[in-house]
Amino acid sequence: MDPESKTSQPLQDASSTPAGAPAPRKQLTRRDVIRYGATGLACAAGGYAVVKYVADAVRELTAEGVFKGDAPNDMVWELWRQRGWTHEGYHYLKLGRNVQCKICPNNCLMEPGDRSHCRNKINRDGILYSLAFANPCSFHVDPVEKKPLFHFFPGSLSFSIATAGCVFRCLNCQNWEISQKKPEETKDPRGPELRLRPPVAGLTAGDVARLSMFPEDVVALAQWTKSASISYTYSEPTAFYEYTYDTCKLAREQRIKNVLVTCGSMEEPPMRDLGRYLDAAHVDLKGFNEDIYWKLNAGRLQPILKTLKTLKSMGVWFEIINLVVPTYTDKPDMIRRMCDWLAANIGPDYPIHFSRFHPQHKLQTLPPTPVEILLQAQSIARAAGLRYPYVGNVPGLRDAETTFCPNCKRAVVTRDVFAITGYYLNAGKCGFCQTPIAGVWA
Ligand code: SF4
Ligand SMILES: [Zn+2]
Repeated sequence: MDPESKTSQPLQDASSTPAGAPAPRKQLTRRDVIRYGATGLACAAGGYAVVKYVADAVRELTAEGVFKGDAPNDMVWELWRQRGWTHEGYHYLKLGRNVQCKICPNNCLMEPGDRSHCRNKINRDGILYSLAFANPCSFHVDPVEKKPLFHFFPGSLSFSIATAGCVFRCLNCQNWEISQKKPEETKDPRGPELRLRPPVAGLTAGDVARLSMFPEDVVALAQWTKSASISYTYSEPTAFYEYTYDTCKLAREQRIKNVLVTCGSMEEPPMRDLGRYLDAAHVDLKGFNEDIYWKLNAGRLQPILKTLKTLKSMGVWFEIINLVVPTYTDKPDMIRRMCDWLAANIGPDYPIHFSRFHPQHKLQTLPPTPVEILLQAQSIARAAGLRYPYVGNVPGLRDAETTFCPNCKRAVVTRDVFAITGYYLNAGKCGFCQTPIAGVWA
């Protein structure tokens, strides 16, 4: 779902460790964290050591979208609880012994013992619990341009975290090894507690599977890595809402910015609640047709449009990404309708990134998006009046990721992959003609 994490290099690849052999330890410095990050992806993909303590097989997903009877058994629950990896849900209804989550439009209705559609929540004895709290399976330090956010503290670092789980089922998901897993398939609470806080002295892949990172630890690690922001990303923060919310709140107190990298499929009340602590969002607008949204993502379009309006009304800066998937979301007419809607309802100043699709997950047989289609999308956006349309995921394409002044048309920020190569803004204004350039620049 998120285009970025696959390009981050794992600290250590668990699959390279022979079964049963102790993983070699590597001293991890602050510089290593910034360069490489550390990830549980390899643990999740290798999986066996992590999942073998999970007693029950995965149950069938019901028509209502929940996994019947798939909550952890008492032994797993107790391990999870002792670690502090359970947290009562926010925004849910108690309906007798049943519960209904109101975080996203899936509105999962769960009987005792059920697991949610996003895999992260369960009904245990009539209480809704998140299992995705303080247990990130992936974390990295990324340039903020990698989110991508181009008009938000350019050149800064963002401490980025993800847990398992997602509210969508995108056929082209780039991070399905974590987004389409249960928390118990990516983390292993057995062994002594390991809480990651600075200074980080050493980590193995097994440590990554075992470690905890509470909200105050995330904030401390962001400070230690000199990150200007924390990004909730890679999988889908809507599915780890409670962890995101608590961390955002603490980060705001410490003057660290919060960045939500999201599919945007969240109900308005939780969005407004969280929005109070957000500084920026990166919203995936995956297309502009309800049927295709359902077919490609198992999601709906209208809630995403609502989220964009909500963020705007709250003054949260955001940028939009539109992954152009051949045969699904590459029709010029659909792109035109999307851009017209954005211009009319959101305004011309929020950047849109048209991103190139590469074969992934269940869409391995499709070709990459032709560059001409992406350039056409960019032209359509400009014609609709959108001031900052970019083309992403095409290294070397001239000016694809350059910010131009909408008045004098000169390049005011130039980029090479994630690096800023030219910066001609003064206090957020064009250095040539003084026209304000939309964004949060410092
Ligand atoms: S956040 Fe998860 S549990 Fe809540 S409604 Fe959405 S899919 Fe269901
Ligand atoms: Zn200018």
